[in-house]
Amino acid sequence: MRVGVLGLQGDFEAHGKMLEQFGATVQIVKKPDQLTEIAGLVIPGGESSTLIHLMDRCDFWQPLQKFANDGGVILGTCAGMILLAAEVLNPPQKCLGLIDVTVERNSYGRQRESFESTGSFCANGHGVPLHMVFIRAPRIRRTGPTVENLATCGGDCVLARQDRVIVGAFHPELTDDPTVHRYFLNLIGTN
Ligand code: GLN
Repeated sequence: MRVGVLGLQGDFEAHGKMLEQFGATVQIVKKPDQLTEIAGLVIPGGESSTLIHLMDRCDFWQPLQKFANDGGVILGTCAGMILLAAEVLNPPQKCLGLIDVTVERNSYGRQRESFESTGSFCANGHGVPLHMVFIRAPRIRRTGPTVENLATCGGDCVLARQDRVIVGAFHPELTDDPTVHRYFLNLIGTN
């Protein structure tokens, strides 16, 4: 299976390594026309305002909308989640609106700019512990009625899914636990 990782900025190589563990062929996506070659796309963490600027420059917005509309599966982590959201706070900024969530940037405060914690991943009705790394993380403040909560940590929903779009507040590529990437690849497989 051929899977893309948006390679404009941020932590894209670690995502690629995670996906290759499962036998996926990874394409680092730097140009919009590369979206036609893949079944799923990871939008990694980084700095969302910088990503917006780079996406403007490379004309990525419309091709990403088309990729999603044509059935592509997308996983956005941290800044990637901010880009996929329907609404962004602190401050409001441009977003793709591909999942019905409101997110607040840098919401975990100065004292906890980066932290690790164990949350709970729950896909099929029973929860399993999942180690999570948060780096200047956004918080999911609202989920729409058709959004599924896939993981919680400290009372917050930190991983959510609507149809073929998954978003997470943490960095699943920075631990040894491949749960989130496996879930993403399974979703492509059943799509
Ligand atoms: N704080 C960043 C932002 O607001 C996100 C941080 C991350 O992706 N690790 O875009």
